[in-house]
Amino acid sequence: MERVIGIDLGTTNSCVAVVENGAPVVIPNRGGYKTTPSMVAITEAGKKLVGHIAKRQAITNAENTVFAAKRLIGRKFSSPQVKNAIATSAYKIVEGPHGDVRIMLRGKSFSCPEIGAMILQEMKLIAEDYLGGKVEKAVITVPAYFNDNQRQATKDAGSIAGLDVIRIINEPTAAALAYGFGKDMEKTIAVYDLGGGTFDISILEIGAHGVFRVVSTNGDTFLGGEDFDARVIDWLVDGFKSEHGIDLRQDRMALQRLKDAAEKAKCELSSTRETEINLPFIISSGRNEALHLQRVISRETLESLCQDLIDRTIDICQQTLEDAQLGKEDIEDVVLVGGMTRMPRIQEAVSGFLGREANRGVHPDEVVALGAAIQGHALLDNKTEMVLLDVTPHTLGILTHGGTFRGLIPQNTTVPTSRGEIFTTSRDDQTAVKILVMQGEHEKGDQNELLGEFVLTGLRKAPKGQVEIEVTFEINADGIVSVSAKDLETGKEQQIQVTASSGLTQQELKQMIDAAKDEMLDRRTSEDEEAAKQEAQRLIAEIERLFPQVEQIVVSSDFGRDATEKARGILQKAKAAMQRGDVQEIKDQIEALGRTARMFRGVVQKTS
Ligand code: AMP
Repeated sequence: MERVIGIDLGTTNSCVAVVENGAPVVIPNRGGYKTTPSMVAITEAGKKLVGHIAKRQAITNAENTVFAAKRLIGRKFSSPQVKNAIATSAYKIVEGPHGDVRIMLRGKSFSCPEIGAMILQEMKLIAEDYLGGKVEKAVITVPAYFNDNQRQATKDAGSIAGLDVIRIINEPTAAALAYGFGKDMEKTIAVYDLGGGTFDISILEIGAHGVFRVVSTNGDTFLGGEDFDARVIDWLVDGFKSEHGIDLRQDRMALQRLKDAAEKAKCELSSTRETEINLPFIISSGRNEALHLQRVISRETLESLCQDLIDRTIDICQQTLEDAQLGKEDIEDVVLVGGMTRMPRIQEAVSGFLGREANRGVHPDEVVALGAAIQGHALLDNKTEMVLLDVTPHTLGILTHGGTFRGLIPQNTTVPTSRGEIFTTSRDDQTAVKILVMQGEHEKGDQNELLGEFVLTGLRKAPKGQVEIEVTFEINADGIVSVSAKDLETGKEQQIQVTASSGLTQQELKQMIDAAKDEMLDRRTSEDEEAAKQEAQRLIAEIERLFPQVEQIVVSSDFGRDATEKARGILQKAKAAMQRGDVQEIKDQIEALGRTARMFRGVVQKTS
């Protein structure tokens, strides 16, 4: 059977695994380490360095050493996240020709997929060394919360590295696969994954015969160990400034040393209560004398500097449970993934929130790569009984006339999937429609993220609402989205695989929406929807008409007052749904309206 490797392409470290004799194993690199720093550097002599060797020279070659490039992959240069990275990186981040991100190393510009490819290539070589032969196929993991552009860019990185990426899977899902591997169990588990750059939480059901179903997933692609390091750096820089009046941030080399020292101290504080940060000759004073930085940091200080970051992860956990419609008590095990979960305060926060100790049987740095290897093996070997049902982390849809977002594929829908809906033109004689493909949970389009856009032209001239366009979304097993729009009369079709402009600022997005407003689509109201609206309107009118009478009759009893209060709530909800034109919600409210109307009629009849 052909070999397939599983690669966890991490923000800080990467790891590669393979299934051997039916069991997944992590492949050590030449130095014997099971993980390899996700770092790339170019030396003065133009030599490319990857991994530990790049990390070792990072301080003396800070401007030409790239770390945490995963935070930039698939993002637009103008996005706030990239701005943030520019402020905290010693290497130079510049704008590429398509508004994308490029990294300058020794005067040459590299795209993020190219940087990712160098790391992937290294992982491929590590595997080939170990296996003694060529490896071509790989499964690569990404954070569950990665959007489409980020997934596509990761896949591109794989291709540049000469790998056939047979599947992209979500990191927490991979962790669950490794956790459940070889155990026949039925359980609901949570995977809490806090790595160097990203946070992910997923809730999964492991069923009989190797069925892994993701119930809900959530996360933050800009919350991770680097943010903890940044807090320590701020603390050191501020302390140094008040003591010496010098801002260490101006010196790139000093910044790189601070970064290293901050991370080291943070890691040490997971096992000790106090540690010393000692950076001799960190900078020279205006009077040409060398200054040193020496400070003791305690675990309590670190915790108080970072408590809000930890709280943010717990808020996201809460939201994910709600999305899964589960209570904390339904979670039967918690798997911790990512280097940051070694921090005791984080372990306490997670077990405090879920009311149970986390599972200690999995290795937080290796479990994701192991899961990727298991998935790769299962894809090539049809004897393996394993079904992976992952979900889409965001609602996907298009922007309609008036700036309203219409979701076609709801958050947490099992993928692969495809959904279509019919829209109509929004003005008379509209000959083109612009499809803005978005993801997000807000009703207002400008609050969501734009994934891409395309235009369908050559529509026949007709009064508004008469030309029908079917918009179809498809998500494949890698979580990559394609969208098509079809003129139902002429059959004319346009399609894109969504790869364009992520990470626009809100301002840019607003301008874009404004510029496209003449080419937007309207939602088509079907007869069934029209009927629902009319039915709701009729019931609302009836209830409102009977309300004063009913209120007078029942006011003397607690029970009656409760009932009218409830009815008021139902009315309010239904009216709000009518105002928004939210047909699904209107349909949901019709039953409650019907019940209320029947009750009101009953009260009035009995007393008349
Ligand atoms: P990962 O992306 O999973 O490799 O996680 C890397 C992150 O975990 C980095 O921010 C590391 O600084 C952090 N990390 C690694 N070991 C520890 C530790 N013992 N205590 C706290 N954080 C750690």
